[in-house]
Amino acid sequence: MTMLAMQLDGPGRPLRFIERPIPEPKPGELLIEVAACGVCRTDLHVADGEIPAHYPIIPGHEIVGRVVKTGSNVEGFALGDRVGVPWLGHSCGVCPYCRIGRENLCDEPEFTGCTRDGGYATHVVADAHYCFQIPASFSDVAAAPLLCAGLIGWRALRLAGDAQRIGLYGFGAAAHIIAQVANWQEREVYAFTKAGDAAGQAFARSLGCTWAGTSDETPPRPLDAAILFAPVGALVPTALKVVAKGGRVVCAGIHMSDIPTFPYADLWGERTICSVANLTREDGTSFFEIAECAGIETTTQPFRLEDANVALAALRDGKVKGAAVIVPSL
Ligand SMILES: [Zn+2]
Ligand SMILES: [Zn+2]
Repeated sequence: MTMLAMQLDGPGRPLRFIERPIPEPKPGELLIEVAACGVCRTDLHVADGEIPAHYPIIPGHEIVGRVVKTGSNVEGFALGDRVGVPWLGHSCGVCPYCRIGRENLCDEPEFTGCTRDGGYATHVVADAHYCFQIPASFSDVAAAPLLCAGLIGWRALRLAGDAQRIGLYGFGAAAHIIAQVANWQEREVYAFTKAGDAAGQAFARSLGCTWAGTSDETPPRPLDAAILFAPVGALVPTALKVVAKGGRVVCAGIHMSDIPTFPYADLWGERTICSVANLTREDGTSFFEIAECAGIETTTQPFRLEDANVALAALRDGKVKGAAVIVPSL
């Protein structure tokens, strides 16, 4: 039995369509037939060699599929079950971070589609302990972007604290989900896009954002927090200028261009800057609960497996409305 996949042989190379034997799940692992896999900006960073990855690698860490085989000692999942596989593929369980419940900062982590093969494929093997059940109200394709854009966005939103007015810089897959969550929580959302992206701003308003403009604009009211989804370091000082005293700027991406210098006065007033790293399993379970309650609707653009390079290019060019999703059955 063989599987099909799009494999990245090394940084800066296009993905290559491959056929190879289906791997056997080891103890504690699930073999999953992939129904849908979201395309995340992190996949671009892996493709460009901007974050440490193990090459060759099959990218993709927003996987929805069904269990077709289980290794020994698997609990909680059975054949035919629908599962979600996120970015955090494994954590060591014994390092100082794991021991205090901060597994997102694990010293010896494994990341799906980065250090272990991911979901740009017909099949994937995952550690069952890091897989999620997905609420039945979401279709396979609709659920895929929740696995990272939604989940990391949720972690970023929680780090923004109880901010009432929240700015989202970069209105892509993560922002279009988190704007809905924040709205449902009765917060005001301010969406910032690239200059000239009128379609993105209209999309943001259609999802209930109070205001939408370009990232160099000053919103009509000072913000309590800002979340940066765009990987642009220059947005850090920009966002600092529009948050009120005590406000927080949350950098949600795994990689960002350098942050330019800025006057200390812009940080003063107990403003803070923080980053978001990875996810914990608790982020996942709490997010899926709230995603169902809030009735999140994802906007998706499907691509065939063999068109993964096209999907990545569309994401790079800012041409995807909502989230790109690879669907192997297309
Ligand atoms: Zn650890
Ligand atoms: Zn991701």
